[in-house]
Amino acid sequence: MRIAIPRETHPGENRVPIIPETVKKLCLLGAEIVIEPGLGLGSGFADEQYTEAGAGLEPDRNKLFAEAQILLRLRKPTLEEVALMPSGCIHISYLDPFNERELVRALQKQGVTAISMEMIPRTTRSQKMDALSSQANLAGYVTVLLAANHLPSILPMMMTPAGTLKPAKVFVLGAGVAGLQAIATAKRLGAKVTAFDTRPVVAEQVQSLGGTFLEIDLGETGETAGGYARELTPEQIEKQRQAQKEVIAQSDVVITTAQVFGRKPPVLVTRDMVEAMQPGSVIVDMAAETGGNVEGSEPDKTVEVNGVTIIGQANLPNRVSRDASKMYSSNLFNLVEDVWDKDSKQLAIDFEHDILPGCIITHGGEVTNETIKNILE
Ligand code: NAD
Repeated sequence: MRIAIPRETHPGENRVPIIPETVKKLCLLGAEIVIEPGLGLGSGFADEQYTEAGAGLEPDRNKLFAEAQILLRLRKPTLEEVALMPSGCIHISYLDPFNERELVRALQKQGVTAISMEMIPRTTRSQKMDALSSQANLAGYVTVLLAANHLPSILPMMMTPAGTLKPAKVFVLGAGVAGLQAIATAKRLGAKVTAFDTRPVVAEQVQSLGGTFLEIDLGETGETAGGYARELTPEQIEKQRQAQKEVIAQSDVVITTAQVFGRKPPVLVTRDMVEAMQPGSVIVDMAAETGGNVEGSEPDKTVEVNGVTIIGQANLPNRVSRDASKMYSSNLFNLVEDVWDKDSKQLAIDFEHDILPGCIITHGGEVTNETIKNILE
């Protein structure tokens, strides 16, 4: 099967979907790999590394799309790119299917089998394909480095003849994959860390990383069967805001990672909470791009409110693009390998497979994913 890998064109995107090491593995499955020249440059991988691994080069981007049987990507395609894809082609990438109605319809009409990396179930077996987790893990790490870079003080305690510096206080809101990595990173740098999440099961994980879990009684919260947080009622959100006010006012760094799958992130840090923080404090709002957990944060910008720096930088894994590419590439390969038919050397679209049907959005001219179908109707 011919697998085509075009360059990422999103402005500033340095991550790449497939690294040379993965090309080798795909070739061993019996696939033919063709890449667009310059594919890996953003993450420091030269064309020669890809060709040595077994890939061919196709400089004509339109031809690359038109002759593809499988397209492996990081970002969602544009409508123009969809129009280039042959009917029956399999496209695997992030798709943002909850928000991209026009794109989903275009993929359906084109007869493309579109697989969304966001829709890989969060089960133990699919962990190796879970790009949301691999990228969130790195994003959590980056939030702490960004905060440390902007903070006018250090994170660890330091006892010197010139005096003793107290450890910085870090508050992490949302202790999922990114939040837990932020806690671990801040602890490694010597900070004193407190965290809160609405899923009570998380308390033990926070404590095992050396953090303190902020206890807030919100009544019924819990998680969905998929392990995601349930959306809070407006009353619960207000209760949470009041209960965390004091901790935020005393923190040098606040990192917010709270998300509710398929919905806008909740606003948890209000303007008055920002204003109550000491000048020089730093907030990193990981949700800024999708609406924000912090009032006043701006997507992909760093702003100052009353002397408090609020960082809304988007695409945090891109700051460590080489490792992010390695992980994403590995997630993609693990998915392909899991559904690859070794006899026919084809990617088998099998609706009896335990993972695949949940992440196929369109197939054979239909929107096959029930959740997305309901949103579109
Ligand atoms: P996410 O990005 O959807 O959300 C981030 C965090 O925000 C979650 O922990 C959520 O509980 C929290 N949150 C939501 N509303 C909040 C609020 N008002 N205040 C504070 N926190 C709030 O989630 P994620 O990090 O991608 O993953 C969530 C969970 O899914 C994981 O922690 C885990 O339980 C599960 N998961 C399981 C596997 C697996 O078993 N293979 C893999 C990945 C994730």
